[in-house]
Amino acid sequence: MSTWSKSSWRDKPRIQMPDYPDQAALEAVEAQLARYPVLVFSGEARRLKKHLGAASRGEAFLLQGGDCAESFEQFSSDAIRDTFKVMLQMAIVLTHGAKVPVIKLGRMAGQFAKPRSAPTETVDGVELPSYRGDIINDLDFTADARIPNPEKMLRAYTQAAATLNLLRAFSTGGYADVHQVHGWTLGFTDNEKAEKYREIANRISDTLDFMSAAGVTSDTAHTLSSVEFYTSHEALLLEYEEALCRQDSMTGKWLAGSGHMIWIGDRTRQPDGAHVEFASGVLNPIGLKCGPSMTSDDLKKLMAKLNPQNEAGRLTLIARFGAGSVGEHLPRLIKTVQEEGANVVWTCDAMHGNTIKSSSGYKTRPFESVLREVREFFGVHAAEGTIPGGVHFEMTGQDVTECTGGVRAVSDEDLSDRYHTACDPRLNASQSLELAFLVAEELTA
Ligand code: PEP
Ligand code: MN
Repeated sequence: MSTWSKSSWRDKPRIQMPDYPDQAALEAVEAQLARYPVLVFSGEARRLKKHLGAASRGEAFLLQGGDCAESFEQFSSDAIRDTFKVMLQMAIVLTHGAKVPVIKLGRMAGQFAKPRSAPTETVDGVELPSYRGDIINDLDFTADARIPNPEKMLRAYTQAAATLNLLRAFSTGGYADVHQVHGWTLGFTDNEKAEKYREIANRISDTLDFMSAAGVTSDTAHTLSSVEFYTSHEALLLEYEEALCRQDSMTGKWLAGSGHMIWIGDRTRQPDGAHVEFASGVLNPIGLKCGPSMTSDDLKKLMAKLNPQNEAGRLTLIARFGAGSVGEHLPRLIKTVQEEGANVVWTCDAMHGNTIKSSSGYKTRPFESVLREVREFFGVHAAEGTIPGGVHFEMTGQDVTECTGGVRAVSDEDLSDRYHTACDPRLNASQSLELAFLVAEELTA
């Protein structure tokens, strides 16, 4: 058996990674990044793992959310603040429903590299390499822009560091105070549904007022004035991941220093491939996307490779089958997990199986499909007697028009108004919060 090292992925088949034209430039960037400070620390990754262990037992619930792809151009403190705020609001609503602490995990501070369905893209007869995220190349449709440039890793690192710095300040510096957070940005128009949400929001506000008046401040993941907020991203660009991988001086174990949780995408989860190899050796909690093509045999191999000690909180299985398909795929994978006696967190990515092309030509996701997939996910777990441990959304605190539907309805025709994503369509602040109310209903049921 080969032994793991932070570079052992280099001997495995790799897909969805760029071929850098200039090796010397790549190596210079890797050397530079390898001297930079890590962005997250071992103790934090372990603490997140402990919380996820609780989620695997139904004693906590995971909320993972953020951009499909972070972008250099749209980087702003307002955007970070707004996403942070709406995630905290969602977490409070979910805590109210689940009656357990909610783990807040951003797709933030490192979510830059994207797997693509095709290596090239053709527009008006011109074929160019696909855009692979701002850490690799540029979105502009020119031959130059699409050349992979390793220098972009340095800018991604800097943006991730600044993002984390702000998140850390918000988490402890008073911004996370629940009395701030529950200035709900519902923005719902008046209708029956909105009235129902408003009532729940008021009930939560009353409870919070009572708690602070009574001096109640203890909760493992969210005190009344500070919050634990973690970061995650798809560990796709392994040169970047390796450069930020460091040995923990206390335990000798290796940390992916780029984010608290890293996940393996549905396209790069080959049990003998480079991405699984890298993730298998780091101490962080690992996410694994499970799409319709995941077989029981794949899952068995992946669980053995990624969590050989069966540590609780180490492995989060992120189911993304699409509305209408959960019943076909989730039960067989749940059965595999049970047969293996594996400790996992089951969470529902209700975005990636529900992408469609709208009549106006935009890639979108109907709010109704997202909600339906979440409900199917809860339904299957209820039928199997297993634990739905969390939800995973592509979302933003900004008022974008990328997904259709919601109580403040976005129509096909509205999509062109504020369609800003560089990659997949995100729920806007109002849709995200509405979904939290509806997921909370499932948790209460
Ligand atoms: C993503 O999370 O943005 C993504 C590409 O997901 P998946 O690997 O599940 O397709
Ligand atoms: Mn996506």
